[in-house]
Amino acid sequence: MAPKLDVRRANAEKKYAGDLSFAFEADPSLIGIPLVAFSSPVEAKLHYEILEDDSVEITGSLAFTLKGSCSRCLKETERRVCGEAEGYFVLGGDGGEDYSYTNGVIDFGEFLRDSVIFLMPARLVCGETCVAPDYQEE
Ligand SMILES: [Zn+2]
Repeated sequence: MAPKLDVRRANAEKKYAGDLSFAFEADPSLIGIPLVAFSSPVEAKLHYEILEDDSVEITGSLAFTLKGSCSRCLKETERRVCGEAEGYFVLGGDGGEDYSYTNGVIDFGEFLRDSVIFLMPARLVCGETCVAPDYQEE
């Protein structure tokens, strides 16, 4: 269900760079905070660039909203999370540091999953009393 990039077709059409904008429902299991859920789809704005050797650079941003009980006082709260996402895809890669793709098509599933996990806060705290200066994130 995650969007894909057809690198072969993009190459054939000489679209070596471009922008992708889409929203997707993220897996609730990506949230490590109790009593918190996504209250919006994850919005992705990505820029891709296909390099000479068919590796593909992805940069962009993700945004989503979390809703649930404040991790400190349990009051219902909501928080918008935004951040950068970037990845590097190698054609037929060996599964090292980079993402790999085969058959000329990049599946963004794993990349989006990792990016959401990376942006996920450790806690959801309400903005009124719980964002106190003495409150330390663990
Ligand atoms: Zn609170």
